[in-house]
Amino acid sequence: MNRVALITGGSRGIGRGIALALARAGHDLVINYARNAEAAQKTAADCVALAAAGGHTIRARPCPSDIADPAARQRLIDFARTECGRLDLLVNNAGVAPEVRADLLESGEASFDRVLAINVKGPFFLTQLAARWMIEQARADAEASGPDAPAFAPPQIVFISSISAYTASSNRGEYCVAKAALSMLTPLFAARLAEHGINVYEIRPGIIATDMTAPVKAKYDALIAEGVTPIRRWGSPGDVGRAVAAIAEGAFPFSTGEVLNVDGGFHLRRL
Ligand code: NAP
Repeated sequence: MNRVALITGGSRGIGRGIALALARAGHDLVINYARNAEAAQKTAADCVALAAAGGHTIRARPCPSDIADPAARQRLIDFARTECGRLDLLVNNAGVAPEVRADLLESGEASFDRVLAINVKGPFFLTQLAARWMIEQARADAEASGPDAPAFAPPQIVFISSISAYTASSNRGEYCVAKAALSMLTPLFAARLAEHGINVYEIRPGIIATDMTAPVKAKYDALIAEGVTPIRRWGSPGDVGRAVAAIAEGAFPFSTGEVLNVDGGFHLRRL
């Protein structure tokens, strides 16, 4: 029986990179998305093919669900239960930038509410639902333990935050506020879930080449060339995928609440 991972926003960008990395490691996948069914289907098919090339047979199931919507979050969890039967890894990746980059003194409440609903409220309450299921599942796994029962490693939860959790960009303040708030979910859930054997991690990506950063490519090309990141290149979705795969394979069993910077060294203070 394969381990099962649910990735929010798995259709494109970083979420797709995470899905491919977990497929390579033989996970069954629930690939959540908001609207882009075609991209989600393509990612699912690519995951199945990549896993097969490595000798794994996996299931990859796309599931549309707006994580800002409570009923849709419940439907996503119900879908994972019906399609896959268990949940070993939740990756809270889905997130949005403001539709318009507005100056801090001009930005409006509608954008603030939208960004906070998708980037913070969604992961908070989805993790609550998933954690309840994981606790119930861990108990059932323990009760079923015996010589013939499959041995499952403990479940895990990952939050994909951003360097924006601690970096001020005054033309997208609501995004920075959201990522700073998201960063608090890691210690909160890590502290609460340790007694159940569930470890929680945060990955802070830096500048990653996706649809989200495409509109500001020229600006970031110049910053990278000037050395804003000690490792002078764009990050790729695969860079983040490798970090999630390392967590998923159980590389950090005595660590929880940890932050992993996948940012080319952006966070380093230099003199
Ligand atoms: P992206 O290319 O724009 O992809 C966003 C993904 O999230 C898509 O799969 C999209 O689904 C999904 N999504 C959007 N709103 C959703 C909602 N309400 N419910 C469910 N899914 C939703 O973004 P990305 O660059 O890969 O970013 C992924 C995460 O990494 C975000 O949390 C972002 O803040 C974070 N991040 C990105 C960077 C970067 O440089 N790119 C850096 C640091 C952190 P559809 O395909 O259906 O639209």
